Amino acid sequence: KEATDINKLADEYLRLAYHGLRAKDKSFNADLVVDFDENLPKINVFTQEIGRVLLNLFTNAFYATHQMQKKSDEAYKPMVSVKTVLKENGIEITVRDNGIGIPEAIKDKVMQPFFTTKPTGEGTGLGLSLSYDIVVKGHGGTIAIDSKENDHTVFTILLPIE
Ligand code: ADP
Ligand code: MG
Repeated sequence: KEATDINKLADEYLRLAYHGLRAKDKSFNADLVVDFDENLPKINVFTQEIGRVLLNLFTNAFYATHQMQKKSDEAYKPMVSVKTVLKENGIEITVRDNGIGIPEAIKDKVMQPFFTTKPTGEGTGLGLSLSYDIVVKGHGGTIAIDSKENDHTVFTILLPIE
């Protein structure tokens, strides 16, 4: 583990996720709202692993807004927001999107390995199960999901400060 600036890491992977989707599909677009806590201390984590977690959360969020955009009228404004905040018990990272949401029926399946609703080649279904291993087992943190179909999804990660 190494002392890591979570804001910097999040910023880096946000760009990567955004440009990754743009490269595959030029019609992809989304507004980004970033609210980084300026007073975050560096935190001891496996930097690359947490980077992978963030990259997957951001990619999932952008992807969900893009799917929503395809079935909405032009009044729909795809939006992904990322917030970091220093809590008493660690650093909290919140990723919110106004995309297609997660239907009630599959909510308890999304963390399972290989569960995906994406077509072959676009998703392996490993992102969230890997994230669970990294955040919960590897760092003693937590992942919470709040979602409403056709409305929003929010993933909240808490990384404890040792
Ligand atoms: P993958 O992205 O390869 O499908 P993940 O483990 O990252 O695998 O996600 C599993 C599934 O959870 C996705 O296929 C999708 O159905 C659902 N999901 C994850 N994040 C979101 C989100 N932000 N909005 C809607 N559905 C989501
Ligand atoms: Mg994914």
